Amino acid sequence: MTTSTPVKLGYLRKLLESRPHKDVLRTYLHQNEDALLKNAILVTLHRKWSARPPYGLSEIGITTYDRQRVNCGFPCPPGAHAEDLLEHVWCLHLRIRSNAHLPLDDASPDAFHFGTSVFVTYDEALDLLHHIWHQPMNDDRPDKGYRPIIYLSHGDNDALGKVRNIDCDFVPGQKDTTIATLNAQDIAVHTKITSKSDAAIEYLLPIFKIIPFHAGNAGNAAIYTTVIAFLSALRNEVYQSDDNPKARPGQKGPSSAKSAMTVVQGLMARPTPPPPFGVLIYCCKCSSYLHFAAVCPNTDFVCTKCLGSKTDWRVQNAQTHMEGLCVFK
Ligand SMILES: [Zn+2]
Ligand SMILES: [Zn+2]
Repeated sequence: MTTSTPVKLGYLRKLLESRPHKDVLRTYLHQNEDALLKNAILVTLHRKWSARPPYGLSEIGITTYDRQRVNCGFPCPPGAHAEDLLEHVWCLHLRIRSNAHLPLDDASPDAFHFGTSVFVTYDEALDLLHHIWHQPMNDDRPDKGYRPIIYLSHGDNDALGKVRNIDCDFVPGQKDTTIATLNAQDIAVHTKITSKSDAAIEYLLPIFKIIPFHAGNAGNAAIYTTVIAFLSALRNEVYQSDDNPKARPGQKGPSSAKSAMTVVQGLMARPTPPPPFGVLIYCCKCSSYLHFAAVCPNTDFVCTKCLGSKTDWRVQNAQTHMEGLCVFK
């Protein structure tokens, strides 16, 4: 069993930082030499903040992929549309309870298609992220250190703009176990899937013959980002054949057996138990754990602070929460 130390993690970080993102991902998925890199966990995060003040962190989508759980850690063919790898991606969707009433598109639990949404406190979310970033190499031997983390995001989702400083408690790229920070948009450009450096998820997925559903939901966005990165980085392995020498994406070459949507629907249909914390049901209007806001019996609840505000969008949002739950300043 390899030992992970801050020095070894630092060395690996240095080694990877000069390499293109697509090569880092390919090396992680394929190579068999560096024992510490083989033990890395790939984590995709997609965070959403409300579009208006107070710009609260509202949703977090997370996927994790542990290479050691796939084919006992030995490199293997990815299968049609990388199905044999993607079926090992674990996906979850957190909604921050205190900000759940802020207006957002696609945030509802019904819009998350790859598992179960849970409503959590901000501290619970931070705690989970801390645990994901600090996984022991060996559960029985804490002296073996922590597993390396390869952090993946889509575009500037990692950017903590001025307005988001309040949520700076967790900066994935700066964690001591993070050995590489990858951008799925960058991987798609470098593998010539597109020439657009700022291509949206909704633009990229159809290139792979995948129709996105509710891509604005942070949980869906996280797994879609992972799919885009895998299919781009492995395009030769997934699509290339004698009659498809340029590895054009689609139902071609090694992926000719089934459609990409069949694979994605399989990911949606598989059993994905909710994480063992947070609550499945929460009403952001009255803070009940027995019903969702859409069926809240407290129809007369309204935030009088928001109702009396001079700002139109606050007045419009006044019915979504009672005064005690107001996060507007
Ligand atoms: Zn309610
Ligand atoms: Zn209010």
